[in-house]
Amino acid sequence: MSIELIIFDWGGTLAEVARQPEALRRGACAVGRVLTGMADETVAAELAARALSAEAAAAADPEHREVNLRELLAEWARDRGLGEANGDRIDAAVRAIGEHWVGGALEPIPGALEALGLLRQRGYRLGLLSNCSIPPDFCQQELARQGFAAMMDFAVYSSAIGYRKPSRIIYDAALEAAFPASRPVELSGVLFVGDSPSCDVTGPAKLGMKTVMVSAKPGLWSDADYADARPDLRLATVADLPAAIETLG
Ligand SMILES: [Mg+2]
Repeated sequence: MSIELIIFDWGGTLAEVARQPEALRRGACAVGRVLTGMADETVAAELAARALSAEAAAAADPEHREVNLRELLAEWARDRGLGEANGDRIDAAVRAIGEHWVGGALEPIPGALEALGLLRQRGYRLGLLSNCSIPPDFCQQELARQGFAAMMDFAVYSSAIGYRKPSRIIYDAALEAAFPASRPVELSGVLFVGDSPSCDVTGPAKLGMKTVMVSAKPGLWSDADYADARPDLRLATVADLPAAIETLG
């Protein structure tokens, strides 16, 4: 079956993640201000570390449940002795981290916008499936700022679903968004493109999708994950996809 739909990963595939740690630190600082009334670097570092360890725990969870950011912030406020933060303050804290961590933190990979523009011109439908614990509105705003949102038929974020790649649940959610009327039984007309061997290659391939693995930052993913991944194609970057996609049939 020839490819009609391409689903992209976001971080490390369409957008750089190099500035994410700095963005998280700024986000944690903003949350600290909202919840404690102080701009304290130690508090921010502690909160950023907690967010990262929650994300690592979610990634290691056999059921692949996503971090619940509201719960994480409320629990942190309690542990800091700030008492029970009410819903409005937690909302404000979520907003503070959402605007800084994902907002404005990621720049498009060179050539990615042009590549997606070309693929769209050629008639491919495009979608996004991203692991991100920040609520979907902030992610969508950032995707729009980068220029990708207008090219996507749909965008699904793990924060909206409650499960992360490689959970079957989140691939199903993306396929439902892609094929609202009726999902094809055979998925070889769907191509998944990403930098994570387990989330973007092995998971989608198990469901019958074709896969392209783009190079990741060294050390980001485990050797075991790489050993399991059998992409149909390997590319240095997503910018190379328009020239290579026809070799996939
Ligand atoms: Mg990625």
